[in-house]
Order: sequence, then structure tokens, then C-alpha cells
Amino acid sequence: MIPNPKIFTIVFVAAILLFVWSCVRRFGLVTVGKPEDRFENFPARIRDTFVYAFAQKRVLQKAFGLNHFILFWSFMVLLLANGEFVLKGLHRSITFMALPAAIHNPLYFLFDLVSLFALICVIVAGIRRIVAPPYPEAITADAYFILGMIAGLMIAYFNLHGVEIAAGEVTATMPISAAVGNMFYAGITPEAAHPYITFWWWLHALIFLVFLNYLPYSKHMHILSSIPNCYFRRFEKANTLPVETFVKGNKFGVETIDQYTWKDLFDSYSCTECGRCQMVCPASQTGKPLNPRQVIHDLKINLLTNGPIMKKGGKPVLPLIGENGEGSITEDQIWSCTSCGACMEVCPVFIEQMPKILQLRRYLVEMKAQFPEELLNLFENMEQRSNPWGIAPTERTKWCAQLNVKTFDDSCEYLLYVGCAGAFDARNKQVTVALAHILDAAGISWGILGKEEMCCGDSLRRLGNEFIFDRMAKDNVKLWKEKGVKKIITMCPHCFSTLQNDYRQYGFEGEVIHHADFIDNLLKSGKLKLKKTVDLGRVVFHDSCYLGRHNDIYDSPRAVLSKATGKAPTEMERNRDQSFCCGAGGGRMWMEEHLGTRINLARVDEALTKNPDTVCVTCPYCMTMFDDGLKDKNADKVVVKDIAEVVAEGLR
Ligand code: SF4
Ligand code: SF4
Repeated sequence: MIPNPKIFTIVFVAAILLFVWSCVRRFGLVTVGKPEDRFENFPARIRDTFVYAFAQKRVLQKAFGLNHFILFWSFMVLLLANGEFVLKGLHRSITFMALPAAIHNPLYFLFDLVSLFALICVIVAGIRRIVAPPYPEAITADAYFILGMIAGLMIAYFNLHGVEIAAGEVTATMPISAAVGNMFYAGITPEAAHPYITFWWWLHALIFLVFLNYLPYSKHMHILSSIPNCYFRRFEKANTLPVETFVKGNKFGVETIDQYTWKDLFDSYSCTECGRCQMVCPASQTGKPLNPRQVIHDLKINLLTNGPIMKKGGKPVLPLIGENGEGSITEDQIWSCTSCGACMEVCPVFIEQMPKILQLRRYLVEMKAQFPEELLNLFENMEQRSNPWGIAPTERTKWCAQLNVKTFDDSCEYLLYVGCAGAFDARNKQVTVALAHILDAAGISWGILGKEEMCCGDSLRRLGNEFIFDRMAKDNVKLWKEKGVKKIITMCPHCFSTLQNDYRQYGFEGEVIHHADFIDNLLKSGKLKLKKTVDLGRVVFHDSCYLGRHNDIYDSPRAVLSKATGKAPTEMERNRDQSFCCGAGGGRMWMEEHLGTRINLARVDEALTKNPDTVCVTCPYCMTMFDDGLKDKNADKVVVKDIAEVVAEGLR
């Protein structure tokens, strides 16, 4: 028997109106953001929504994801059950019972079973938060309130149907409810069951409606937003940043919440607070104040605080950037990011944490000239001499003083873009020499720009100095076009990513190849033949973030090493797209690391657990960070080598 439909209709309509009002108020705030087109390619968006939102591909990548998967799908099925519950509450005749038994019996059986799954998952989630929390701050009242409400919903469900079955009012196949009925209400008469039915029915209805109305105000807002967030996901990797137009009066970067795009703001509503980003963030994991989960949460709070005011044309009352208590995100947080992209790689709902942080840097540098003091030298050197050290451009060819290296002209197929580290850094110059030998041994037609070569500006872009980056990018592209450069080889993943991704915005359309891919192709095609197998003892390979995560190059360096050493390199615990940053990306190479412990030491520790004789890298920054870290750990017996050096050794 169902309680008075008139009373329920009033309660239900009031609750739905309140829910809609809350959603419109909260989600409507994203319209303060700037426009961004995330509507193209409808079929791919639908496909990815199924893969990532409904099939939960990323959620399932972690062991505990299965619990979330089952809970999610239980919810999906129970939407149907709750739909019936509500409709039946509004009008008694609307029920699956009206369908033939061959349909309603399996349906009720499914609802019963799935309700049990949901209850078990909620209990497991609650215990897990105490026994093995996903991150240290995961035990919150909000989380337990939500879990409690879901559990309450299931308990009310089983009791409601249990007592109905025990009283003979319902005959559907519901084994769990029937067991509850047997346990608590065996032999009950329909009259005696009535108050119980009323109680459990209303408890179920009220929990359901309170839960619905609590959602927009809790961390579980993601139940409403994460599916659309997967739909609106970025298809290409977030490995570049928007170009600025440098005209008087323009503002650069992000100072206030309305300077983000609507999608950036929608991201902040979609966070599930799973903490995966924080657990892989090299800054968070080495005691820096940056925590990408917290950044996204604080952006949401900033939006909720300032959004209503800004929508009416008012000024924000809570600054986006400010020290603790004065603003949402501190400068130390902003400067701690290595732009490694690990946060974005693991986020189950495709939140883009890193670009939001780098946009704040851009504001600080471009609009306030406010940045860590050690960067002043870097910026000056880059601007005046187009390299981080301020070394005279004439010294760019010192690495090849003893070699017969051609200056690039029309007759060269490839430009070897040496890069600043490859040209000036003593250790990395050896890598450049090794690569030069490889190119010659394979009979490649190549040349260099020598003193005309300029820095690509990667660090400037990640550090927010867009003005100088913009000029350097334009100068480089102009020079390459004048010289007729069509194919570029580089041995630095930062140069590679900048040329390959950022320079597209400046009209560069040439082919850019990282030396890992290039050497791999030479070996595979037989153009490069090794004379011997190189014995480097136990080789451990470290993935560079800008080669791997930002550009999906994982296999070629491993293939090169396997070929050169005769066996596959040993993998670190965190490898490929889960690799841990060396600490030098995002311009951190040029900054002091005075907060927390050093990132490179954490990575070196991880490498040392594999007892390596050699650590192989594909990046000049990784080379420096490992070299320094191994020295600091008194492990200088372990050698760091670039894959080009290994291959060059095999040619001797
Ligand atoms: S990009 Fe890397 S360092 Fe920056 S917030 Fe994400 S995980 Fe942390
Ligand atoms: S930003 Fe993404 S990975 Fe980080 S806590 Fe939120 S949902 Fe999880």
C-alpha cells in the first residue's frame, strides 16, 4: 500500500523545484567563463562518453575502481527502480507490476540484487576510507554523509519490500527483500504491516529527495557533472597553451575566475575528489604546497564565492591568487608545478589541472612581473642571448669543433635542432656528438644552424613568460621558413614538444622527430647497423614526461635500448604514462627547490630499488637531474646515459 499520493506530489514537486533551482544557480555560474568550443566531433564525444563515463575506463585502472564501477552501474539500474518508486508515489497505478510477470519478475529481481551490490559497495567504500584511504585527507564528514544516505536508501528499500512480501502484499521475486522480511516481519498481517510500510516508504522517499537536493552542494556534485565533463573532454593532449595577442590594453593569463573558460570552470564542478592526481603529483608527493585536487576544489570555492557577484557585473571579493587565507591559490603552489601532466593522465573525468596553473603563472609574469627571483636571470638571458645561460651564440658550435658538421642548407634533408642543453651543457654535448655519429653512420643528410640557432622557448612558455616566447617562436619559424627547413630532429623532449605542438600555432608545419623515434626507425629499416651489443649491466629506463605523457612516445626508446643492449631495459615501478617526473619540467630546471624534498631524489630512489648499473634517459633535463641525484645519493657508480650514447657505442 502506498501513502497518500497528494501529500507526496506536493513534497516531490517542491523537492524537484528546489533541485532545479540549485542546479541552475550553481551550474549557471560557469557562464561567467570565457567561451571555448567543445562541441565539435559529436560522434567521437558520444563514443568517449560511453568509454570513459559509462564503461569507466580510467576509473577501472586503479584496483579500487571496480567498487566505484559496480556502485555507478547499481545507481544506473536503480534509477529505473527509483523512477518507478516516484511515479507510483504520484499515481498508484503506475508500476512495473502492471507489466506481465515475465517482465516484472526479472526486473524486481534485478533491482533487489543490485540494491544489495550498492549496499556492499557503500560499506566497502566506508571501510576503505578508514583502513586504506585513497589520500590522507579523504576521511570527511561529507563523504560519510553521502555514503550513509546511500546505505539508508538501500536499507529502507529492503525493509519496505521485505515487509510487503511478509504481509503478502507483493509477490515479486525479490530474494534479498524476502530474506529481510523473513528475518524481521515473518507472519505479519497486512494491518500490522501498514505502519511499517508507511514508515519505510516515506524514509526511502525522503532520503531520495534529500540526497538529490544535497548533491549540488556536496563533493558528489560530480554525479551530475562528471558524465558531461567526459563528453566535453579535450581530444588532443593539453600539451600547449593558448596564444596571446600583444596589443595595448589586453590582459594576459588568468587573474580572476572569469578569465578561465566555461570548461575550466565546469571542471571544478566535476572533481570526484578521488585524489588520484594528488597521489601522482611530484610536487604533492615531495612535500610542496601544490596539490592539484585542492587547486581544483579551491577554484570551485572561488567560483561559488565570486561567480554570483561577477554575473551581476560586480568585482570579485575573493582573489584567485593570494597567500593562505587571502586568496584561493598561493604563489608557492603555482610555481611548484613541473607541468609533468601526471595529474591529467590519471584524472578519471578529464579535468585539466596543469593548464589552469600555467595560466596563473602567465598572469603573474606578464601582468605583475612577479616571479621567483632566480628566474630574472633566466628571462634576461633568454631575451638577450636566446639561451638559459646567457652564453654567446657563437659558442653554439663548440660541441662540434672537432667534427665535420655541415651548416644547414637546401641540400640537407634534416635540420638537427641541437637545443641549448645539447649545445652548451658539458654533459649533454656528449649526447649531441653521439647523435651526430649516428646520423653520419646511417648516411643521413643533415645540418645544423650553428650560431643562428635560437632557443625554442619551452621553459618560457611553461613559466608564463609568453611575451618573449611569442617573439622567439615567431623568429624561429621565420628563420626555418627562410632556410627551407622541412624536417627537424631533436634530442630534447621539451624542444620536441614545443616545436611539434606549440609552434603549430605559429604556422610551422614541418615534421619534427625526436631522436628516439628517429634512431628506432634507422635500426628497424636497416639503415643503421650496430657492430656490437653494448654491455651496460642492468639498465633501467626512465620515461621523460614530455616525450611520454605529453606526446605518447613510449615504445621507441625501449626498442632502441633492446636492440643496442640485447635485452629489454628494466622498468621502474612507475613507468610509461604513470612515470614520475624528474623535477625539471615546467621551467623548474631553472628554479631553486626550497620547499619539501627534491623531486629528482625521489625518482633516483625509485631507480635505485632496481639495482641499476645504468639509468637510460632520452632528455637533457632528465640527464642532469639523474646525474645530480645519483651524486647526492652517493650512487655515482650508476652511470646515466642517453639512448643515443648507447647506440653510438654499438657503432664502434
Ligand atoms: S602537472 Fe605534474 S606537477 Fe603540475 S600539478 Fe599536475 S601532477 Fe602536479
Ligand atoms: S581532479 Fe580528477 S584526479 Fe584529481 S581528485 Fe578530482 S577527479 Fe580525482
